[in-house]
Amino acid sequence: MSADTIAQANVKSIQLEKLQAGVEEVLASNAFYQSRLHKVDTWSDFFDLPFLTKAELVEDQKNNLPFGTNLTYPLGDYVRLHQTSGSSGGRPLRWLDTARSWLWWTGLWANHVYKAAGITSEDRIFFAFSFGPFVGFWSAYAGAERLGAMVIPGGSMSSEQRVLAIRDLEPTVLCSTPTYALRLGEVANEMGIDLSKSSIRKTLHAGEPGASIPATKRSIETMYGAQVYDHTGMTELGPTGFTCSAGDGVHFIESEFIFEVIPLGSDPESNITQSEGKGELVVTNLGRFCSPLIRYRTGDLVDLSREPCSCGSPFVKSLGGIQGRVDDMFTVRGINLYPSQVEEVLMRYSEIVNFQIRHQKVRQMDEVALLIETRDGTEEVVERVVLDLRHSFGVRIDCKSVPIGSLPREEMKAKRVVHVEG
Ligand SMILES: [Zn+2]
Repeated sequence: MSADTIAQANVKSIQLEKLQAGVEEVLASNAFYQSRLHKVDTWSDFFDLPFLTKAELVEDQKNNLPFGTNLTYPLGDYVRLHQTSGSSGGRPLRWLDTARSWLWWTGLWANHVYKAAGITSEDRIFFAFSFGPFVGFWSAYAGAERLGAMVIPGGSMSSEQRVLAIRDLEPTVLCSTPTYALRLGEVANEMGIDLSKSSIRKTLHAGEPGASIPATKRSIETMYGAQVYDHTGMTELGPTGFTCSAGDGVHFIESEFIFEVIPLGSDPESNITQSEGKGELVVTNLGRFCSPLIRYRTGDLVDLSREPCSCGSPFVKSLGGIQGRVDDMFTVRGINLYPSQVEEVLMRYSEIVNFQIRHQKVRQMDEVALLIETRDGTEEVVERVVLDLRHSFGVRIDCKSVPIGSLPREEMKAKRVVHVEG
């Protein structure tokens, strides 16, 4: 048995042990799960359990205000509230943590996410986020404190103020979404400040796939003269992964979660998953049984590889990080495409500042147009993009140049696909 297989075998037994203990606790007092769960002694007990969807959680919270029934302990034991943005038009999901589960969160940041990025107690980390109820910022912040690094909050600041703060306070790490890192670089350029000459040596990202898309990653690297790292996670799940030093994906933390994949095109009702391959990511967390998720369908599109990795991590690798949302898939003349594939092509053009995919169903047919903001507003680059997309995907996608600044920019998640009512 190779070192890697031994490590993999260990991972499986760690998972089952945590699962058995956690499920027992949940069954005793968690009203939400009592009807959905049975005792888990073996892996086959686990694979018999039904999937859980976000819609079920939203419904439960709507019917049981304000926090829903997925609570294993009395309310008094919980110390933190966070919520999702509700950006996809749905209600925000509220999520509670106990002191113990919060320690689990921040420990995963300190021991996995920061560690994999080579960020240490010597670093000074600038957080370009507002102090909202979004958990990503708070957990990254608390994790950095736990690491012993210096934390610099960048909330309630304009982008110009953030650029000046970076210049004056000399942080070594920038924490933001990938889109916002690019936006901040643009603002710095307009101010005549070159961030590639700043003190930033690493950038760490979450919230969108960008930092794992090679072309976007390269743009951020060039703009900041820094190494770029990704991290994955969800409000309701926890921080699930960290950048592999081999540079082609994210390792998922299998000592703290169980990861499965519903293969693309298969019926989720069949309850069948694989441990690798391409499809929708299904996750069970093993350190947050105060409000657990068991076999949770994330809606995230991944491609999991169990090939031994040169970085030495025993954990499964998600090639290209999170590649997008399963729901965001669109079809152009029979070819299935995801926004991250389009982004990979567009980000090779330094002239392109921003883009949006407009998707419309007309008489059951998908119609797709790309709106592109270019630096100088020329049509020439748009013509090259049409050819390039055709070369990459074998189909023609309509592209239109739009005035600079006309597409929305978000501090959190960039909305790459807009579905228009047909
Ligand atoms: Zn690796």
